Amino acid sequence: MTILGSMFGATQTATAADEFKYTDEQFADIQMLRYKVHGFDQLSLRQQTLIYYLQEAALWGRDILFDQNGRYNLRIRHMLETVYTQYEGDRTSADFKAMEVYLKRVWFSSGIHHHYGCEKFEPAFSRQWLRQTLLSMGYKEELSGHPQHISRGPRSHNEQSWDELLEVMFSTTDMMMRVNQRDGDDLVLTSASNYYEPGITQKEAEEFYSQRKPTQDPRPVMMGLNSRLERNEWGLLEENTYRVGGLYSEALEHIVYWLQKAQPYADTPQQERVIRELIQFYQTGDLRCFDRYSILWLKDTESLVDFVNGFTETYGDPLGMKASWESLVNFKDLAATERTTKLSENAQWFEDNSPVDARFKKEECRGISAKVITAAILAGDLYPSTAIGINLPNSDWVRRDFGSKSVTIGNLTDAYNKASHGSGMDKEFVIDEPTRKLIAQYGDLTDDLHTDIHECLGHGSGKLLPGTDPDSLKAHGATIEEARADLFGLYYMADPKLVELGLTPNLEAYKAQYYTYMQNGLLTQLVRIKPGSTIEEAHMRNRALVARWVLARANGEAVQGYNPALKADRHHPAVELIQRKGKTYVRVNDYSLLRTYMGELLAEIQRIKSEGDYQAARQLVETYAVQIDPKLHQEILARYERLHLSPYKGFINPRYEATFDSEGRVTSVRVSYDEGYAEQMLRYSRDYRSL
Ligand code: ZN
Repeated sequence: MTILGSMFGATQTATAADEFKYTDEQFADIQMLRYKVHGFDQLSLRQQTLIYYLQEAALWGRDILFDQNGRYNLRIRHMLETVYTQYEGDRTSADFKAMEVYLKRVWFSSGIHHHYGCEKFEPAFSRQWLRQTLLSMGYKEELSGHPQHISRGPRSHNEQSWDELLEVMFSTTDMMMRVNQRDGDDLVLTSASNYYEPGITQKEAEEFYSQRKPTQDPRPVMMGLNSRLERNEWGLLEENTYRVGGLYSEALEHIVYWLQKAQPYADTPQQERVIRELIQFYQTGDLRCFDRYSILWLKDTESLVDFVNGFTETYGDPLGMKASWESLVNFKDLAATERTTKLSENAQWFEDNSPVDARFKKEECRGISAKVITAAILAGDLYPSTAIGINLPNSDWVRRDFGSKSVTIGNLTDAYNKASHGSGMDKEFVIDEPTRKLIAQYGDLTDDLHTDIHECLGHGSGKLLPGTDPDSLKAHGATIEEARADLFGLYYMADPKLVELGLTPNLEAYKAQYYTYMQNGLLTQLVRIKPGSTIEEAHMRNRALVARWVLARANGEAVQGYNPALKADRHHPAVELIQRKGKTYVRVNDYSLLRTYMGELLAEIQRIKSEGDYQAARQLVETYAVQIDPKLHQEILARYERLHLSPYKGFINPRYEATFDSEGRVTSVRVSYDEGYAEQMLRYSRDYRSL
């Protein structure tokens, strides 16, 4: 699982001496940032070499994600890059400028749909202009032999192969959503992501997998994780597996090549085995092998340099089975890791003292390791938009029997915070000066800590009752899981245990986190959503669910899972939305009561997860997590617009350059930060094109 940052760090005074440029260009709804790889120069040459090879293995997976996100994406990217680099007409014309923005968005999302909202981009240039431009350039596609890229037979003679790409880009009826989660729709047929061959229905796909589900196996593989579901010549469904010699072979061969280079430089013998097993997995596509790799990987807590490289998260599949490719190379931030070590050493205490029903608690919390890391490269589904924390592996039985490895990415959080200084958000949305001061004082600290608890303890806590199918919450599973981890964090933020452990300075600090969480879930996260749309993304749904449930609870509504013995005082609610001069604010009147409510919801969410209560999950999500009051939405958007900020952020990677001796050994690795966004994307398309 990944955790995405709450989008606004707290406001604080910028440190003057830091000359590193954290912000870069802005386009559409995007602000590009840069992160600094603190401490790279202090690593040994051996470790730098390892990072160099692993970042090559990371960058070679880029095309996989583009193709997973939609079967025309690679062709569209190539076509537009050709126009962008070779166009000889007026580059200042409105059409060209609009095409440039569109291409930057395609790069950012690894495809033609929004990376967060999933809706298809609307080109602001004309189809006629693009067609004329392509014709006058004599643009011809070199179609590779991948059948999944080609959708039609022979064309009439004045029609170009790329005409169908224009149709895809400009159509207002086809491929409108990358991942469609709307209840009642056929989620597979109506999602444009490329995990199922066109024409395969949700019912067919679900039947295919439910027939294959090993009901008795206590250690089931994550079925469907690394394949595209296709129809064979007999009309029967079968999986086309991502592996060397299978689907995405060309990209995977490059990745394997660089992993083999990295292998002798592994930090520890354990890590050497991790890399070997991963190569084996890419070569065979065998999910048993993937589980073995995952276990080796989570047990490797000694290596200073670490990485994720593989088919990992399933947010892009409407059925939540198939994983998008991602990579992250990183190394340990030793000082900050002390913080998370304290949490994981006390994991059992947190488990025992949570407000969850004893039946759903783990008797023995083990294997939770946690560390703060410095990201060295982001790739695939972690680039440019990225997570600030990771908890892997995702396999339920591996987590149950072996635990998981949790990281928070310190240098990315730091970059977000540095970039948000003086953004004006707090001034506009926080209710009063004392609350702003509280946030300025404790916001960064508690935000980091909440992320740590979410990842180290939250996802790892609790257990399923025997016989509960881990997939029983289906499309709502991800939202419920994120809510569970968030609530675990929120509940403990206010606990004296954290003061005792030296993680928070006092019992005031958590209020900064509670206020910003409620404000974000009720108000400010709406800036990421277009008027008329609903909340779709799992982390956003989770935040809305938590904040709105707590608000309803505080205002005396008979919400699902509340403790009727504890009546809320609706005349003096613990938290409320108030109006001032036409502006809506969150007002918190009783922070400690807020904590009690969060504890109630945590207990209910854990019950839903442990029992696999689909109806209750659905009820919660549909009541609190999806719909938006259009009037409130309009107000928030208008207030936000006046600040001229971008709701989404992403990172330009640093660039690594190595020098070699006559035997091909790396003699030095240099990191630089001056590459532009378009420059980087074009370099990746040129140097790492595989599909
Ligand atoms: Zn999470």
